[in-house]
Amino acid sequence: MEEWLAALSAVSQRQDQPDLLSGRHHWYATSHARPTYCNVCREALGGVTSHGLSCELCKCKVHKKCASKALNNCKWTTLASVGKDIIEDIDGNITMPHQWMEGNLPVSAKCLVCDKTCGSVLRLQDWRCLWCRTTVHTQCRPTLPPACPLGPARVSVVPPTALHSIQDESWEAVRPQASSPLLVFVNSKSGMKHIYIIFTFTFIHYMNCVLQTVHRLHI
Ligand SMILES: [Zn+2]
Ligand SMILES: [Zn+2]
Ligand SMILES: [Zn+2]
Ligand SMILES: [Zn+2]
Repeated sequence: MEEWLAALSAVSQRQDQPDLLSGRHHWYATSHARPTYCNVCREALGGVTSHGLSCELCKCKVHKKCASKALNNCKWTTLASVGKDIIEDIDGNITMPHQWMEGNLPVSAKCLVCDKTCGSVLRLQDWRCLWCRTTVHTQCRPTLPPACPLGPARVSVVPPTALHSIQDESWEAVRPQASSPLLVFVNSKSGMKHIYIIFTFTFIHYMNCVLQTVHRLHI
């Protein structure tokens, strides 16, 4: 426990702490060994010698010159960040929808609907969900149920639909059904800007990214 608290304290004191609630991407410069396309202008990123930018959370790809035009649509963190895409039934129960990123699909990705190969090395084409990793053709997507099953890590993931902002700087977490995430809440009246939630989970890319920075500092 003391280790966790020390990690939290370190996060809170970092001046470069990214604003994880803004939806902004977290870019790093990288080259791409296979054809990759910019999610802003849709043109090729230019091969291994030309460095593009990749978001470490959602793998959005852009040219350096296009980064300022990218939408703030990074991987969702809280219920509010899901916005109008949220699925709400007549009883007011909410369900997490898929969060789609266009193009740059893994090699030999298959469409969940028609089971045929999807994605392309020739253009930005077809979609993958940032949470469950489902890949789907543009034309097949309307027939896919909108609810996201959260993929193989679902028992440990805290979906953004379970993180409600109840005041400016505090959140309430609702335990998703049939899941068992390990959470530690730290309320910070001592200089921290947000309540951070520590979440121990091995497959870091499946996690809710609010939780990711703390985890990374810890390991
Ligand atoms: Zn571009
Ligand atoms: Zn991103
Ligand atoms: Zn999904
Ligand atoms: Zn298909």
